[in-house]
Amino acid sequence: MAADRAYLDFNASAPLTADARAAVADALSMPANPSSVHSEGRAARRLIEEARREVAALVAAKPEHVFLTSGATEAATTLLSPDWQMGRGALRMARLYVSAADHPCILGGGRFAPDQVEVIGVDRQGVVDLGALRTALGHHERSAGLPLVAIHAANNETGVIQPVAEVSKVVREAGGVLVLDAVQAAGRIPLDITRTCGDYLIVSSHKIGGPKGAGAIVAAADLMMPKPLITGGGQEKGHRAGTENLAAIAGFGAAAREAREGLGRMGEVRALRDEIEAFLAASDPGIEIFGSGAERLPNTTFFSIPGLKAETVQIAFDLAGVALSAGSACSSGKVGASHVLKAMGRGDQAGALRLSIGLSTTREEIALFKSALDGILARRSGRERAA
Ligand code: PLP
Repeated sequence: MAADRAYLDFNASAPLTADARAAVADALSMPANPSSVHSEGRAARRLIEEARREVAALVAAKPEHVFLTSGATEAATTLLSPDWQMGRGALRMARLYVSAADHPCILGGGRFAPDQVEVIGVDRQGVVDLGALRTALGHHERSAGLPLVAIHAANNETGVIQPVAEVSKVVREAGGVLVLDAVQAAGRIPLDITRTCGDYLIVSSHKIGGPKGAGAIVAAADLMMPKPLITGGGQEKGHRAGTENLAAIAGFGAAAREAREGLGRMGEVRALRDEIEAFLAASDPGIEIFGSGAERLPNTTFFSIPGLKAETVQIAFDLAGVALSAGSACSSGKVGASHVLKAMGRGDQAGALRLSIGLSTTREEIALFKSALDGILARRSGRERAA
């Protein structure tokens, strides 16, 4: 059956999976506070601990090293702090190093003052400049505190995967601490916190088919943690106060389990994405796919169509039934110039379109995308002939 809408914007938010929806519904009917000691409270607590185990399993971490938050932005703001604790002792991070293609929740520097944040460039494929990172860390003034490095494992716009093992080596040699924003990588490529070597990973529920409003900090060890962002009751071992969002967390856990189980099928997603890219190339050889010279997530393609502004094309796709993004449209629906393209030295581009899919994407949806593209290109040709 032909699809009348195709939702191809998984990197902005992946559709809620059936299991996550069921877990949310079950949790919503539970009356108790997970901190209460009665049977109802303990039942709610069990849901949270089950979700924690699933989030941990997704990145091969220990459940006791998972700290649940309201999302990745909160997790980033918590971790990007100059003030840390190691046991009872205080620990200072003197400076934060981020990459120019990071998500705004990392680029913003969290709780660091703007002059304590140093931005490391990326190359034309969007891969972080390891030499520049090494040089910057070489100049780090250690007497003031440790260097904290935060970088995305995979880019939300291009899907470009960063060389995290090399980044980790550079950070380790400099005696620094590494935060990996694994929001887009989780569930799309295998992640093992002990092997990817980040000291902390950030994950988000709604990018992997869970509900919006849940996320986590995952630590590789329990040596040290940042000063909490939210204080109050002692939830999450005092690292994140506030009564837990039980329904969102339960859905996050279900989605994390499905994402882990679905990892072995990401080849199917890659095949669909590659088919889309072959169609783009055959439709107009001038279509450029950004970051295609680097290793990329299997589900993302970020492209521009010559002679057409990305925002205009996005609207044309929407009218034809296809939802995709022009750049990363994750901030209040506004479409600005992509800072990722700028960082890649491609600020000359009139924007780009991001198509991102998942295991639930159907061939019918891809067929709708193809026919919408045909229509857009035919209208462009018509205009060019008339001009
Ligand atoms: N990091 C990356 C790479 C993202 O793509 C996003 C969302 O677009 C975030 C962080 C923020 O996630 P959340 O919506 O859970 O705050």
